[in-house]
Amino acid sequence: MTQSIISHAPTIINIFTMNCSESKYLDLQKCPLCGSLNSQLLFKANDILMGKPGEYNIEECTECSFRFTNPRPYAEDIFNYYTSDYHCYRDDNRKKNDVTESSDLENKVFTSNSGYTLHGGFWGSRGWVFPNLQKGAKILEIGCGSGGFIRECIARRWETLGMDLNPDLEPVITQMGAKFLPTTLPIIDLPDSYLDAVFAWQVIEHLYEPVETLTEIQRILKPNGILAFSVPNSDCWQFHLFKDKWAGLQVPTHVSHFSEKTIRQVVEKSGLKVVEIYGQNTIGCLCPSILFSMGRKNVSLSDQWTPLSSVNKIIDRFLSILISLLFGRNQAERLTVICINNSQE
Ligand SMILES: [Zn+2]
Repeated sequence: MTQSIISHAPTIINIFTMNCSESKYLDLQKCPLCGSLNSQLLFKANDILMGKPGEYNIEECTECSFRFTNPRPYAEDIFNYYTSDYHCYRDDNRKKNDVTESSDLENKVFTSNSGYTLHGGFWGSRGWVFPNLQKGAKILEIGCGSGGFIRECIARRWETLGMDLNPDLEPVITQMGAKFLPTTLPIIDLPDSYLDAVFAWQVIEHLYEPVETLTEIQRILKPNGILAFSVPNSDCWQFHLFKDKWAGLQVPTHVSHFSEKTIRQVVEKSGLKVVEIYGQNTIGCLCPSILFSMGRKNVSLSDQWTPLSSVNKIIDRFLSILISLLFGRNQAERLTVICINNSQE
């Protein structure tokens, strides 16, 4: 099954029915993480989440085991592959994420092995990390979406910056009291050693240059500054079971499909130090993955989650615990990573 990346031509399908009509595809010749020329095709996948045309290979580097989407849209076109009702941009997502007004989520506070406060914790559906920063601490959230986490940071009296690909979010974020930065990744227009913490929830898998971006984060973090982020875990049992129907795959907007091993490699290349990686056996992808496997597609993403929210709470908790017992933590659906900038500068 092993094949050279060079051997396959980019799969160009009919893209003229959508506003991605000018898009072309970038066919990677090398592993974006280690530069190896050899990869194996795991399976092919379509955009079943947002319903945009395109067929993509999910490849695994035979040298470093990094999994990635190939070919992929050019970076300058990728915004066309999001829909306006993408769940991170929805207003109801902001309300749902508002942990200050949700006693249920407040009850799921958990302390990590290294002493950080987590919301959602090991079992819960959220995995936000809150370092013990003082009032006035400078923080940046990359991929802030409609601002659920931004609101939490402002409630803690942190000086908060939000960055997102979607420029329409600027008034939403500034109205909350944060400053909005349009994305310029991998460059971040902030001075050296400026921030106390950077956060990126389910964002790094979207980035075309994850190592360069984390290296830039290392530059703008103060010594001992914190980077906390999460990514879908492509080593999870659902990835292997559902393959192209796994809701966490989300091609083509997810261009990297990390495992604990490969996300650790990315962090280490950036000069940051991993403090802790923990897996969360949430079931956020389970219900939509089952629906996708039954042939559902091209429907609004919020509809995909509706069955889950209607049976939520008890079943969510019960299944999460059961899945943890069955599959263990290293096969969790999501990995949350806490890093520190321990450079001597
Ligand atoms: Zn590689």
